[in-house]
Order: sequence, then C-alpha cells, then structure tokens
Amino acid sequence: MNEQVIGYIESIVKERPALISEMEQYAVVHNVPIMELVGIEALLGMLRIQQPKVILEIGTAIGYSALRMAGALPEATVVTLERDEERFEAAQGFLSRSEDGKRVVTLFGDALELAEEVGKHGPYDAIFIDAAKGQYLKFFELYSGMLAENGVVYSDNVLFKGLVAEEQVEQKRIRNMVKKLQNYNAWLMNHEEFDTSILPVGDGIAISKKRGEQR
Ligand code: SAH
Ligand code: MG
Repeated sequence: MNEQVIGYIESIVKERPALISEMEQYAVVHNVPIMELVGIEALLGMLRIQQPKVILEIGTAIGYSALRMAGALPEATVVTLERDEERFEAAQGFLSRSEDGKRVVTLFGDALELAEEVGKHGPYDAIFIDAAKGQYLKFFELYSGMLAENGVVYSDNVLFKGLVAEEQVEQKRIRNMVKKLQNYNAWLMNHEEFDTSILPVGDGIAISKKRGEQR
C-alpha cells in the first residue's frame, strides 16, 4: 500500500486513549517494533468479528498489542510471552496502569520453552504470532495444538516490508530471515488443517483458520 494511502487511513483512525498514545510514543523513542497502526487496527477488526475469549500472544514487547486487544474485547483474556527483560518490565508497568490490563497475563521467557505454562491457560481461540521471524514455523508447531475448535492463528510481519517478494536481498542476515519467512508462508498456505489468507496490511498479516471436523 502506498505511503499516502496509509497516511490517509492513519489520519482518520479514532484517537486512542492517553495510555495507548503514550505507549506508541515510547515505542518510537525506544525503537520498539510494535504493530503499525493500520496493521493493529485491521487485526482488531478481525478479532471483533471472531470474538475470541482466550488469546495467546507470542511477543509482548511493551504490551501495546496485548492491551489493544484487551481493550477491543472486553470479555477476553490475553496471555502474552516476552523474553526480553527490559521490555517485559516496561509491559508490566504499562499494563498495571490500565483496567483492561488486568485481563492480560504476562509470562516471561522464551516462547520455545514456555509451552507447559502456556498450556495451563488454554485452550486458545486465537493465537497471535509476532516474535522472532525466523522461528514462526516452530511457534506454530508448538502452539497450534492448543487452539480451540474453530480457532484462528494470526501471524504478523509475514511480508517483511515486502522483502519476501524481492528476487535478491543483499544483506545475508536479512536474506536468511526472508528465506525463513518465505518457507513459513508456503508451508502455512499448504497446511492441511488450516485455510490461510495473507492480508497485505501493516507488515503483512496471515490469517489461518483451523478447519472444523471432517465433513
Ligand atoms: N506484539 C507487540 C510487538 C512485539 S515485537 C506489539 O505489537 O505491541 C516482538 C517481540 O518478540 C520482541 O520484544 C522480542 O523480544 C520478542 N520475542 C522474539 N522472539 C521471542 C521468543 N522466542 N520468545 C519470547 N519473546 C520473543
Ligand atoms: Mg510485528
């Protein structure tokens, strides 16, 4: 989507509560990769339709998307994971200042090592993957089994600034990440138990709907 259109949407998005705006500013100042405004708004739109009651988020950062999800869904609980101590603490600080934050359960540690703890809070109606791009396939394999029937997995950053569509990426580290994401996207699109669509909004969001029992 071109910058002008994104700017236009941003200009008409409803004003956020003061705490949310403060978090958006904190993210800019501290260089925290929270979801882009148009991306989070699209995600919230889908969640308002789906109405999940229990959500798992992989990648809390400072708690921005977790708090926005809790705010958009007054009956939902959000369980969210973060391995970076500084961000985890910032998230706890922000969440403690909000009534909606009481419905957010923060777990500290690497998502690849938290499955047992995460399982205790499930099953999950929605899983939102927004962490290390190179590990998406592992996250999906580890946690999609905790989905409730008709659950949905939302994966952020699957288009990685459009780089997944580039023929050649110069920087090796970036190129590796791009390859992993391309691999994840292809794998996900062909997954037998899920139907997946990719929305070119924000940094690219994949929506993977678990199929019901065999018809
Ligand atoms: N969802 C947040 C942004 C998350 S940024 C929002 O939109 O507000 C991605 C975060 O995932 C980073 O803070 C990073 O530390 C964390 N992360 C990356 N890999 C992880 C892992 N394996 N386990 C736990 N957290 C991880
Ligand atoms: Mg993201």
